[in-house]
Amino acid sequence: MCKVLQIEDLTIQNVSIMNAAEFTGVHIHFLVNNQRFQFLVGNSQSPIPLGIKHTFSKKDTCSLCNKKINAVPVGQQLCFYLQKNRQALLDFFLKNYPSHF
Ligand SMILES: [Zn+2]
Repeated sequence: MCKVLQIEDLTIQNVSIMNAAEFTGVHIHFLVNNQRFQFLVGNSQSPIPLGIKHTFSKKDTCSLCNKKINAVPVGQQLCFYLQKNRQALLDFFLKNYPSHF
């Protein structure tokens, strides 16, 4: 049985959104299944989803893309699952945290 996860099915917790210092946009930090991710969103004209990286505090297998990920700062690789769904993920944050964009 292979269930395709949808963004709406994920429980996204501990969201913090900060203005980025190095580009025009925001960093969004959040947890899914107690694993931490960082989503970069460009926001100079309108919000554009950029990269979504794992920012795990310890070595672990990502519950979304099933890759073995090292702890930060070594293991900051893109999460292919979230990367593939980045527009849906951005829509989620735009809808739920509109004051940040
Ligand atoms: Zn992943």
